Amino acid sequence: MDLQILPISAPKKLIENENDLVFGTQFSDRMFVMEYDEGQGWHSARIQPYGPFELDPAAMVLHYSQEIFEGLKAYRRPDGKVAMFRPADNIARFNRSAVRMCMPEVDEQFLLDAMLELVRLEERWIPKNEGTSLYIRPTMIATEPVLGVRPSHKYLCYIILSPVGAYYKGGVAPVKIWISDHFVRAVEGGTGEAKTGGNYAASLFAAREAAQKGYDQVLWLDAKEKRYVEEVGSMNMLFLYDGKIVTSPLKGTVLDGITRRSVLTLVKELGYEIEERALSVDEVMEGAENGRLKEAFGAGTAVVISPVGSFCYRDTCVQLGDGQPGELTMKLYNQLTGIQYGRETDPHNWVTLL
Ligand SMILES: *Cc1c(COP(=O)(O)O)cnc(C)c1O
Repeated sequence: MDLQILPISAPKKLIENENDLVFGTQFSDRMFVMEYDEGQGWHSARIQPYGPFELDPAAMVLHYSQEIFEGLKAYRRPDGKVAMFRPADNIARFNRSAVRMCMPEVDEQFLLDAMLELVRLEERWIPKNEGTSLYIRPTMIATEPVLGVRPSHKYLCYIILSPVGAYYKGGVAPVKIWISDHFVRAVEGGTGEAKTGGNYAASLFAAREAAQKGYDQVLWLDAKEKRYVEEVGSMNMLFLYDGKIVTSPLKGTVLDGITRRSVLTLVKELGYEIEERALSVDEVMEGAENGRLKEAFGAGTAVVISPVGSFCYRDTCVQLGDGQPGELTMKLYNQLTGIQYGRETDPHNWVTLL
């Protein structure tokens, strides 16, 4: 398939102060788009001016949420080069999500090349300051205008770009986590391992309640027993427990995070034993009190690593250590961001340079 590049009329103005960038509110001049029709496959791939789509009000995505997305970043290095972190892994996961949601797979190499081309064309949108990046959002939606419940015969796949400021403005800050004993995010056999919009829609109610009570994030428990910790918001959770790294196994309820995967590789190299097992909320709460749980952090593209300062469950809050980011947590944060921004070597070939 050819990739057509269409001209833009007038480039938008960049936000002058990169500290004023608010996540996901500003978009670049161009976007990638391609269309799918049953019997024809993917076609009409092009990079065109960013702007609204015309969608039939009956488009299936608007009614039954047949939708998937991805999230990754391009990083501007001090030497001016642009790096992306494991982008092929995101495209591979996009296809796994597509299969789960009965959507057509994409040609991974084609989409990866198109994404790199888009970022190259939009290079001026990649901010320069430490910790900033260009967020990349591949998306696929069902567009067939039919109200019957079945997989759509028509789809739109697109990629949009949004410059983001540094997540941690005053240094890496620990978060206060609320463990929900009522609401759940994903069930075994459900869609938890697909990156699909519905999972997020389902999480809003609890997240709002948590925010109203002054917590930063919701930690979800497993849906069956409401006993084992799974994920936080859009991050996987990892714990330094009894000197080992403990994290939820991938059994369909937890997203196979690329940051999680990278962290597991790094901690193994640091000599830590890894336990992918169900960790109970009691182990977390008691462990924080008796010192068996030394550190805990979320891992995801948006924040890289987010240290936990305290956990709250029912009527009890426990602080982790002195409430400050742990030593291993910070080491991993520095190692991962070091690889992304080129301060550290990249022995695993995780980085793609534009
Ligand atoms: C995207 C996402 C993650 C993190 O995945 P990364 O590949 O590390 O960005 C974790 N959990 C959920 C629910 C997510 O949607």
